[in-house]
Amino acid sequence: MSTSDLYSASRPTVSFELYPPRTPKGEAQVWETVQRLAPVADYFSVTYGASGTTAERSEALVSRILTQTSVPVIAHLTCVGRSRSQLRGVVEAFLDLGVRDFLALRGDPPAGESEWTPAPDGFARASDLVALIREVETERFGAPPRDPVERLAAHRAGRGRVSIAVAAYPGYATPDGGFRVRQDELAALRAKQDAGADFAITQLFFDPGAYDALLAAARGAGIVLPLVPGVMPLTDPARIRRLCDMNTIPHPGELLGELAACGSPEVAERVGMEVTGAMVRRVLRRGAPGLHLYTFNQHAGVLRLLDGVLQA
Ligand SMILES: Cc1cc2nc3c(=O)[nH]c(=O)nc-3n(C[C@H](O)[C@H](O)[C@H](O)COP(=O)(O)OP(=O)(O)OC[C@H]3O[C@@H](n4cnc5c(N)ncnc54)[C@H](O)[C@@H]3O)c2cc1C
Repeated sequence: MSTSDLYSASRPTVSFELYPPRTPKGEAQVWETVQRLAPVADYFSVTYGASGTTAERSEALVSRILTQTSVPVIAHLTCVGRSRSQLRGVVEAFLDLGVRDFLALRGDPPAGESEWTPAPDGFARASDLVALIREVETERFGAPPRDPVERLAAHRAGRGRVSIAVAAYPGYATPDGGFRVRQDELAALRAKQDAGADFAITQLFFDPGAYDALLAAARGAGIVLPLVPGVMPLTDPARIRRLCDMNTIPHPGELLGELAACGSPEVAERVGMEVTGAMVRRVLRRGAPGLHLYTFNQHAGVLRLLDGVLQA
């Protein structure tokens, strides 16, 4: 299976996000994670940082997974700090490595800056990067089908076709207990679909209602892309807080309170797994086409989560 199976699989796909390690110890850890997860992975994805060395580490991990496993890998790519022609070079280099799956992102503003400023002659939006990847693909392999379902069928048939994922953002909690999807994020998702994206992976969320809200708003806005929920085991309060801060997501107060009341990391682990398992089962019942699991380069938690979901 690969990303193309999102439109055709008889079961939800399972994918795992990894980040490029910084140290030899981290390298050993990520590789053990890859080996433990490969038997159940439909595909991996590898995050991408702005700086030159981070980018090199991402490319090295992508390349190692491609050459030493049989699992396809999505290369994340951001517009940060690169001109159009530099981004074109990065896309071409990934294609040369054998990558056929991308996650096209704008990227975050550098630390300390709240406004996004494109690099000189760079892109302001992820949709521009989607269009660039399609342009490079067309030059190499001919024009892809316009219809996303046909496009992914060609990708599955191994005709050198490229799949492009993009980011999507679940609804934000409102004071009345509902969820509201931001109109600019919805417009951005529509623009990414129109530029040639094949599917979307969501930002983390803590309540299945946030995914439901995105699904309903997207379909209402003519967005037909499969929306793969991005999920992590919600067991570690410190990590949850850190990720919320990094991604400017409001802290999930109720969940953090519940975990704090557990009294020990062991009980918090069990309770957090139960909460995450219930959330995953609910989004799958709503028709989520796959699960994208944020691993933080550790296999045990995501495997326990999958076990719990399958056994329930
Ligand atoms: C699954 C996933 C993986 C990620 N991986 C990485 C990674 O590897 N490396 C990394 O640096 N970051 C990563 N990110 C974070 C991402 O780069 C940031 O969230 C970034 O701030 C926005 O990127 P985007 O691709 O959603 O941007 P865009 O889709 O370009 O949207 C950015 C903003 O621009 C505006 N906008 C864009 N298009 C329109 C439009 N047509 N109309 C109106 N407004 C518009 C909106 O305000 C929108 O919120 C990831 C995020 C997710 C969800």
